Amino acid sequence: MKIAIVGAGLAGLCAAKSLLDAGAGDITVFDRHVGPALETSHANGALLHPSAVDPWNSPGILRLLLANLGNEQAAVLLRLSALPSLLGWGWRFVRESSPARHRAHTLANVALALRSVQLMKTLRGEGLDYGAAQHGSLALHRDAAAFAKAQAHATWLQQHGVLVRVLSRDELVAREPALQPVAASLAGALHNLADESGDAYRFCLALAAQLEARGVRFRWAEEVRRVLTAGGGRVVDRVTSLLPADGAAEDFDAVVLAAAWWSVALSAPLGLALPVRPVKGYSVTLPLPGAVPEATAPLYAIQPTASLAPQQHPHPRTPVVDHDLHVAVVPVVGDRLRVAGTAEFCGEDRRIDPARIGNLLRLLLQVYPALAGHAARAPRQEWTGLRPMCADGKPLVGATRVAGLFLNTGHGQIGWTTAAASGELLACAVTRHAPPIDPAPFAPARFGL
Ligand SMILES: Cc1cc2nc3c(=O)[nH]c(=O)nc-3n(C[C@H](O)[C@H](O)[C@H](O)COP(=O)(O)OP(=O)(O)OC[C@H]3O[C@@H](n4cnc5c(N)ncnc54)[C@H](O)[C@@H]3O)c2cc1C
Repeated sequence: MKIAIVGAGLAGLCAAKSLLDAGAGDITVFDRHVGPALETSHANGALLHPSAVDPWNSPGILRLLLANLGNEQAAVLLRLSALPSLLGWGWRFVRESSPARHRAHTLANVALALRSVQLMKTLRGEGLDYGAAQHGSLALHRDAAAFAKAQAHATWLQQHGVLVRVLSRDELVAREPALQPVAASLAGALHNLADESGDAYRFCLALAAQLEARGVRFRWAEEVRRVLTAGGGRVVDRVTSLLPADGAAEDFDAVVLAAAWWSVALSAPLGLALPVRPVKGYSVTLPLPGAVPEATAPLYAIQPTASLAPQQHPHPRTPVVDHDLHVAVVPVVGDRLRVAGTAEFCGEDRRIDPARIGNLLRLLLQVYPALAGHAARAPRQEWTGLRPMCADGKPLVGATRVAGLFLNTGHGQIGWTTAAASGELLACAVTRHAPPIDPAPFAPARFGL
């Protein structure tokens, strides 16, 4: 069977790996960039977080979005200019936010995330090095009512296999001494034991090299313009070939769209309206004070400078998520600190807005005020990415009604957490093997696709 995968981010590469493991031998991966993970999978929050896979359309989301309209400081922001592109999608997004649906979607994502964490352990056992760390994550809460709600939610998640501990202030500081200066201002904290961290970019580089060594062909810098079908248009029989921008059409038995939000444009001519829209986020990566960062790629070429402050405070070492501030602060590969967060519903806007970067740095200092001097002086990598968000907060994984066309996209804010298991489900759909978890919640058929 000859298989094409469009997209060499987390979704495409994990799909290729699982397909190979399932015995599919002839795989070609197309990406318009010159290497893997140069879009959304590049500098994400670096957290694998089964503890927080709840879809973002939680009950009350509409009120929050409307309240934040025009507030540039807001972590979650809807831009009026994006409204026309969000109309149908937004209606579904809100419809799926009823408490019953939201809980069902959360549990489906939990199953996918826990399976992924298992698979990541296997991948590490196979020698894949991505700076993985298993310290769990610390969820900080500043507001007492929100903390009480979070504890109830964590108890519910625990019944479904997501391990968590409530920490006293002393226990929190013992686990993360760098939080000492803010501990007194917190209402409480949870230690999410199932969470892990790791550098998604490094993972993709290592995985792509491994796949290439196993015979997967990569066609870099090849933008796929169209998926061609036997029907030749809207009345579709089955996929036949891919048309790269500058090459001749090539025939395939199966095509997997793992092109994040850009999968929408590729599938539209086939009559499939994917309910996926971009939700912009930012990250800032700094070297840890005193650390000499390892340069793994051009975008990581952060040079140590003489101005770096000597270490006067303990380094952050455990990933921290501040739910009230909507920010994650995650040590990456032992020498960097990544601050990630914010969600903007703003269409395909790839600009780095200095005000939003400033926001992230401000949020960092609310978690680690002792880093103020360092954050002002240290060289930093500023990055933005477009989360491919599906209207019900779950990825689209599996076969479509166009024979031979498969999807692995729509992972939104949980694409690193669920990448390995999504790849596995996708491979089961293509090779018709029995999947290890229920694929129905992720099936494109739920949207009539
Ligand atoms: C700020 C931020 C923080 C995040 N933090 C986390 C986190 O902590 N934990 C977590 O689980 N998730 C996180 N995420 C989400 C996660 O990063 C994404 O869900 C994930 O990267 C999506 O992977 P992907 O492979 O679908 O997309 P991408 O990595 O974008 O890959 C799609 C690929 O398709 C290629 N492509 C597109 N169109 C074409 C075409 N026509 N022809 C050829 N190639 C094409 C692109 O070049 C790209 O390489 C975060 C996202 C952001 C933005």
